[in-house]
Amino acid sequence: MNAPLVLGGATVAVGLAAHGAFYRNSALFGAALGRLPTDRREVALTFDDGPNPDATPPILDALAQAGVHATFFILGRHAERWPALVRRVHDEGHAIGNHGYYHRKLHFKGPRYVRHDLGRGADAIAQACGARPALFRAPHGFRSPWVNAIARSMGERVIGWSLGVWDSDRPGVDEIVHRTLAGARPGSILLLHDGDGYDPAGDRRQTAGAVPRIVGQLAARGYAFVPVPAA
Ligand SMILES: [Zn+2]
Repeated sequence: MNAPLVLGGATVAVGLAAHGAFYRNSALFGAALGRLPTDRREVALTFDDGPNPDATPPILDALAQAGVHATFFILGRHAERWPALVRRVHDEGHAIGNHGYYHRKLHFKGPRYVRHDLGRGADAIAQACGARPALFRAPHGFRSPWVNAIARSMGERVIGWSLGVWDSDRPGVDEIVHRTLAGARPGSILLLHDGDGYDPAGDRRQTAGAVPRIVGQLAARGYAFVPVPAA
């Protein structure tokens, strides 16, 4: 008679572990900031997987023109390739977060691997711009019990997101704009991509094309743009 209970317990445990690994803001493995702590019309624009020589510069141009600051979760191996772009992101006042070095999903990786990946990513950023990142976002949001602890031990706050619009599928500039405007709420952390985590030459020009319209139309609706807070 106990077997179904044991089985039930095992099922629950596996379910909880999957929840923690696959849901980017899940508190099970420690908190990841999934939205800004505000009900005001503020959003954080975040860009993952860059820098990228075709997408990052026009995005920075658009942000500068609008006087808006965003947060860039930079991939270490791309930072090594294009350190001048990392410096530009930093020099123009945007927040920089660590996105690891290799862009492998971390939920089944052991602590040694995670520490190596995060450490090498942060080192590449520091090498490029002289500042160490105070934020971390896991590739695809996949975490494990030690990912948060290791990130925190490196002085990095773990960040999730409120709204992803699958801009990396390249659905077209209009669609990226539409999805972002339709989903943005006060306090949203908006996830976009200025790079491709798997291909340094990946095409993110659609996202770059969408940014001026996203910024302009959210501003017209009364939204302000804030960097993701490090504490
Ligand atoms: Zn990524």
